[in-house]
Amino acid sequence: MRSIHDNLQAVRSRIARAAAAAGREAGNVTLLAVSKTQPAPLLAQAFAAGQRAFGENYVQEAAEKMDALRLPGVEWHLIGPLQSNKTRLAAARFDWVQTLDSEKIARRLSGQRSGSLPPLNVLIQVNVSGEASKSGVAPAEVLLLAKAIKPLPRLRLRGLMAIPEPGADAARYQELKGLYDGLKDELRFDTLSLGMSDDLELAIACGATMVRIGTAIFGARARSRGNDVPPAPPLPVKDAA
Ligand SMILES: *Cc1c(COP(=O)(O)O)cnc(C)c1O
Repeated sequence: MRSIHDNLQAVRSRIARAAAAAGREAGNVTLLAVSKTQPAPLLAQAFAAGQRAFGENYVQEAAEKMDALRLPGVEWHLIGPLQSNKTRLAAARFDWVQTLDSEKIARRLSGQRSGSLPPLNVLIQVNVSGEASKSGVAPAEVLLLAKAIKPLPRLRLRGLMAIPEPGADAARYQELKGLYDGLKDELRFDTLSLGMSDDLELAIACGATMVRIGTAIFGARARSRGNDVPPAPPLPVKDAA
């Protein structure tokens, strides 16, 4: 079995190759290690291999790992849906929230972000897959939400995030890139969070500045609390041999 160190090296190579193929600098693509449902010791291994940005989907689970690990110099990104009863903890513990899709949540986060912390970095999640997903705002609504978020004093709007459905064609990615490019000067965007283990090459070809990689670093996920991944089929019962 390959180690997390080796997996990270392989992912970094994929990013470098994809960036080179797109005529981009690999240094302009941030690797976010998606550690949802993975136990703290695996995050510690990734940290030891130089990884400094981690993405988590569940606020409470993430806070427990932060407390268990106390890793210095690490950036924590919330990449799962955020409900209003979790905004206070999210505002206290995360450096980034990538899944902003309502003005209400944005106002709560800004109001709850302590003055002793830097402003919370946020991305607007864009629903590029139409009806297939409930999360994110429609492309046509992004500008309106961005203008509502911009003046909030404790938030720093950095750009857009999207989760194209598996197998989505390049047009989806191009659509998001077009939206991002159209807004980036006016809104001073610097982050397009797009691409996962299976589509990082396409995402980088289409301008992603941050890729969110779970499986290719940590291996398959065990399922736990309210995971967004559909449950696995039951394992066949093994006969005692
Ligand atoms: C789980 C998750 C990822 C990582 O997916 P992999 O296919 O394991 O790389 C990326 N982004 C979001 C929003 C996720 O929920």
